[in-house]
Amino acid sequence: MSPTTLMEWTGAHTRSPDETRRAGAEFAGDLKPGDVVALHGELGSGKTTFVQGIAEGLGLHDQVSSPTFALIHEHGPPPGLYHLDCYRETSLERWQQLGLAEYFYGEAVSVIEWAENIAPLLPEKTIHLTFSHGPERDERIIEVRS
Ligand code: ADP
Ligand code: MG
Repeated sequence: MSPTTLMEWTGAHTRSPDETRRAGAEFAGDLKPGDVVALHGELGSGKTTFVQGIAEGLGLHDQVSSPTFALIHEHGPPPGLYHLDCYRETSLERWQQLGLAEYFYGEAVSVIEWAENIAPLLPEKTIHLTFSHGPERDERIIEVRS
């Protein structure tokens, strides 16, 4: 068995960005120091919105935006929250140079958008969430991948 977080949170079906933020805050309640969370799903499926909720749930008051160009945003006083976006930078070597191991094996929570681009670098303990669009325009479905 791999050492994974015991998740009570089982996913969400949301109908607005606010609901997705709320879902992220609830999910954050199950996180423990050092957790790594991989967010999968196409553009606009609500990943960054969900991270805003995670930050709120962790008691951080930073404004959370997509780290598309910065690659990594650090939020809050240590241990804090690392928010990574692997959409643009897909070179595993480049990510290793950025010191990923320190992010993933410290006390902070790390949340990674487009984590599939660095799949070989993800720790075994990684919690995987999948985001998709529901039938209505503002519906989003968030699932915990088992
Ligand atoms: P991603 O990071 O997956 O690309 P974002 O969170 O940046 O997605 O963007 C989601 C977009 O979809 C935003 O423009 C947001 O206003 C819109 N949206 C509509 N309904 C929802 C919902 N239920 N949850 C999250 N975002 C939603
Ligand atoms: Mg995003």
